[in-house]
Amino acid sequence: MMEKILVSSCLLGTPVRYDGSGQKLVHPQITTWQSQGVIIPLCPEVAGGLSTPRAPAEIIHDKVVTNAGEDVTVAFKLGAQKALQLCLHHNIRFALLKESSPSCGRNSIYDGSHRGIKVTGMGVTAALLANNDIKVFSEQQMPALIKALAQC
Ligand code: SF4
Repeated sequence: MMEKILVSSCLLGTPVRYDGSGQKLVHPQITTWQSQGVIIPLCPEVAGGLSTPRAPAEIIHDKVVTNAGEDVTVAFKLGAQKALQLCLHHNIRFALLKESSPSCGRNSIYDGSHRGIKVTGMGVTAALLANNDIKVFSEQQMPALIKALAQC
């Protein structure tokens, strides 16, 4: 059976980002996976109950806070739990998540100052999935994801 892959909804072009946009990843492998029906899309922030558009949020000191100072940690953690439940339900072992998001960031996030500064780190959902043995890749790591899937 083919591996299913959890994919950030915005990478499929769905307009779920904080500013109401999508960020479609144009890659032939995405088209192939879609035709094979192996993509399971999710936006953790929407799943956590946040609206679109919404205030941009960043992680600081284990909390997620908007640029207006609102603590949205609970919604981010709920979205992460829903992502994990979805993975467990579908036996998903691989995720393709949007880099630098406070939910989906795989290798980098913003530093919490809301000044556009990136630092090494993981978003809330990416970290929870990785801690539960799901292999998480960003859209900048497509070759590595394709290679890992080929070795299954
Ligand atoms: S939470 Fe993830 S899927 Fe949702 S808009 Fe942000 S990066 Fe995309």
